[in-house]
Amino acid sequence: MGYKYELHVHTSEVSRCAECSAAGQVEVYRSLGYTGICITDHFFGGSNNIPPDIPWEEKIRRLVSGYEHAVQAAGADLDVFLGWEYTLGGGSDFLILGLDTDWLLRYPDQLKWKPAEYFTKVREDGGFVIHAHPFRRYPYPWIDTIKLMPWHIDGVEGYNASNEDDENDMALQYAAHYHLPIYGGSDNHEGWVNRYAGIEADRRYENITDLLRTAASHPEWIFCRSETCPSEMKEI
Ligand SMILES: [Zn+2]
Ligand SMILES: [Zn+2]
Repeated sequence: MGYKYELHVHTSEVSRCAECSAAGQVEVYRSLGYTGICITDHFFGGSNNIPPDIPWEEKIRRLVSGYEHAVQAAGADLDVFLGWEYTLGGGSDFLILGLDTDWLLRYPDQLKWKPAEYFTKVREDGGFVIHAHPFRRYPYPWIDTIKLMPWHIDGVEGYNASNEDDENDMALQYAAHYHLPIYGGSDNHEGWVNRYAGIEADRRYENITDLLRTAASHPEWIFCRSETCPSEMKEI
């Protein structure tokens, strides 16, 4: 054991609510000894800083810029995977993993797809859908509804390091009830945070969906805990 993966990271290049750059995030996870991280910036309709009135290709170029910066910063030390956080609005968010920039470019009409249609297409094309923090309260009253789509997802973020423990408990019960695999993610907007959640796997995985499918039958790989921050790194 000891191959740590982070599934839920934002970069300030793309996510309006993030304070840490892609290079800063890479530095944090490298110093914590991670094997891989997924950059999951907010998709369109969510909290990103991409103007709505530019061509699709340009939108996608900007959406993946945090991921691309992270790849450059990581070099060979850390595997970086592309993801994005799709939103239904009102705090209902889903991590899309395992697809690439070409997939995003291929479907310029994807913002018109209904959520169930979107998830079906993602999964048919080999991608993975994880419901992020399904029972998050903050920031109520902006979040006024809990929306669940158990028949259209591959797993549940049972441990979100930025959520309260009782919110995670509800997510774990939800996953158990529907026999959905659980995952962990930090929802990291800041780089150094109080605790981190993720997967601690048995080996390095070059393909993120291989890891996710394998981890589906290893709930004991999912962790949520404090990590010791080297003091000289705290200023990132
Ligand atoms: Zn955010
Ligand atoms: Zn997030």
